[in-house]
Amino acid sequence: MQSIRSLIRDVADFPKPGIVFRDVTPLLADAGGFARCIDALAEPWQGSGVQAVCGIESRGFIFGAALAQKLHAGFVPLRKPGKLPPPLVSVDYQLEYGSDRLQARSDALRPGERTLIVDDVLATGGTLEAARTLVERLGGELVGASVLIELAGLGGRARWQSPARLHALLSY
Ligand code: AMP
Repeated sequence: MQSIRSLIRDVADFPKPGIVFRDVTPLLADAGGFARCIDALAEPWQGSGVQAVCGIESRGFIFGAALAQKLHAGFVPLRKPGKLPPPLVSVDYQLEYGSDRLQARSDALRPGERTLIVDDVLATGGTLEAARTLVERLGGELVGASVLIELAGLGGRARWQSPARLHALLSY
């Protein structure tokens, strides 16, 4: 796991003062590192019958689409507002300042479809919790959630209102 960690770049004070941005682009650019990362993200879910992977815009698309291929599952993008045509299902959620919204096509999941949510970073947990609510409203059966990085000090895991497993590959 050290080799994956060493390919993530810490950028201080981005996008605002006091935030350490975890830049995954060096990892994505490293063929071996990216492949090992997807193998390691997939490992806990092998044999759990995942049928759909829901990736959160936008870095969740990159990891989620690769993970869907690895797990022989379909991929569903959970998008920010204004990107998808109707009919849509939406969930609003609070950010540190202001609010945001995640949307998916209203028929994006089949009833009871076994679904895994994927994002790059778990910070305060609001985004992942909104994705969980969206999967529920779409009628999917939540298998769990997978993130590359958990920022453990921000308490996001405590906001995960589900008995389904929340797996993080790396903890900072
Ligand atoms: P949160 O809702 O607070 O858990 O924030 C998670 C979302 O914000 C994820 O989609 C991340 O891509 C992004 N994010 C939050 N904090 C960081 C960070 N320090 N570095 C990179 N991305 C972050």
